[in-house]
Amino acid sequence: MQHASTRGLAKCAVCGAEETQSGTFPMVVGVGRVCIADGMARVKCGLCGTEVKLLTSAKLQGKTLCLSDYMKEIEKFRQHIVQSFDEDTEPLSTILERAGKDAPEGYTLLAVRRGRNSTHVWEAEYEKTELFLMRCS
Ligand SMILES: [Zn+2]
Ligand SMILES: [Zn+2]
Repeated sequence: MQHASTRGLAKCAVCGAEETQSGTFPMVVGVGRVCIADGMARVKCGLCGTEVKLLTSAKLQGKTLCLSDYMKEIEKFRQHIVQSFDEDTEPLSTILERAGKDAPEGYTLLAVRRGRNSTHVWEAEYEKTELFLMRCS
């Protein structure tokens, strides 16, 4: 039996070992605190396939990623995204329709506006739906 409630001491998320001194187990994003042995273990990035130490990886939505892929992935979780449409290649009416219909998953369309310094590029701005709902309630 383990005493899960020992205050301040972390347990390794991989093997369950408890640290002997508070704060010695490093934190791995999406995994939790890990012991040094597990932290040095090699894991494979689910995107680029590079082998990295668990310590220099991060877990995102169940996927193990190297830090550079992790940074790229979290970019996708930004609160705002902007998509551009070109009026040269499609009429404005289609752009407006698509901007609303093809909103990225989990995002709500905030506005469609003309791109900066452009006469034909339109930008659709989206906000993460949760944020949008939070603000509106
Ligand atoms: Zn461990
Ligand atoms: Zn990678």
